[in-house]
Amino acid sequence: MISKKILVIPGDGIGPEVTAPSIQVLKQIASQFDIQLELTEKLVGGVAYDLTGTPIPDDTLDAAKNSDAILLGAVGGPKWEPLDFSVRPERGLLKLRSELELYANLRPAVIYGDLVNASTLKPEVVDGADLMVVRELTGGIYFGEPRGVELRNGERVGFNTLIYSESEIRRIAKIGFEIAMKRGKILTSIDKANVLESTELWREITTEVGKDFPEVKLGHMYADNAAMQIIRNPKQFDTMVTTNMFGDILSDAAAMMTGSLGMLPSASIGGGNGMYEPVHGSAPDIAGKDKANPLAMILSVGMMLRYSFDLIHADELIKHSVVKTLENYRTKDIMAEGKKLVGCKEMGERVLQSLEKKYN
Ligand code: NAD
Repeated sequence: MISKKILVIPGDGIGPEVTAPSIQVLKQIASQFDIQLELTEKLVGGVAYDLTGTPIPDDTLDAAKNSDAILLGAVGGPKWEPLDFSVRPERGLLKLRSELELYANLRPAVIYGDLVNASTLKPEVVDGADLMVVRELTGGIYFGEPRGVELRNGERVGFNTLIYSESEIRRIAKIGFEIAMKRGKILTSIDKANVLESTELWREITTEVGKDFPEVKLGHMYADNAAMQIIRNPKQFDTMVTTNMFGDILSDAAAMMTGSLGMLPSASIGGGNGMYEPVHGSAPDIAGKDKANPLAMILSVGMMLRYSFDLIHADELIKHSVVKTLENYRTKDIMAEGKKLVGCKEMGERVLQSLEKKYN
């Protein structure tokens, strides 16, 4: 039996609603795979501010550092928008990411079963697509110095710096290869080595790191071409690794081929442990109405099992159960003709039933 400490942070809005069924799924998997779970629940976000005056209390940070992985629902909402920036719910999330040194963001874009029709792309283009974008999250042009806007020769000039050190490239490239090893063993590194020296270095170091992963087939592609290829033929990709800014843009483009925000899980990894959360926010417009789609959060549990605990089969089981459930049941955001409309709770129960059926 293996033992895992999981910190659960339900957060605000629909966060607690999508967290509840996800924990049920996790418990079911734990019993099937003989995992002893130690679950701790803590506060982050608006709810933390209301109770403690800070969006991330120290005991949450301590618990995060002492856990094997973190599951987070969502934070934020209109109630806390008037607050000073320093205590806004989202600051809690950013602090968590930076304190835990989560420098790699993983965003899969997968078409689940007949959700193929929810995509804005043609079914034959997206059917079967399964792409993972590994984005560098704590460096590059979003953080580079010098930066600013200043007066030069009588006019204002805005400037930012795209900077990557060898060690920053090496660690994200390594994550890219490790993720590819847990998937289809094909890695495409995205850069603009034809015009940007910093990404020339990116290409050089990525190639060098590749020597430690002989089983992975490494390719390089310019970012502009990658954007085009995601729309033209996403099935050619398995795993992509790229800089902060290119990853920001390409992961959104890749995600949208799936057509639904309620279906997108994500992970931030790098330091000792990983944080797993749906891509969507706290959806205040539907909070408390049992209308949220819990599948992004349930699929985030699957990502945690695969990428933090190497339980690839457990993730496959969850995905299979999600696909099976989608054959008959839909929440409002992904509703289609001929399917039964269900709420957040029932969707979670249906996934759980499908999981139990598959196993017993
Ligand atoms: P949002 O993702 O919360 O919602 C956008 C739209 O998608 C809404 O119409 C919502 O109802 C719908 N939606 C989102 N998740 C859904 C789900 N699981 N099922 C069904 N429908 C879903 O984005 P927003 O409205 O721009 O932001 C609301 C709040 O969430 C803001 O305070 C924002 O700062 C915060 N936010 C938090 C995170 C996070 O916690 N990681 C991410 C994004 C936004």
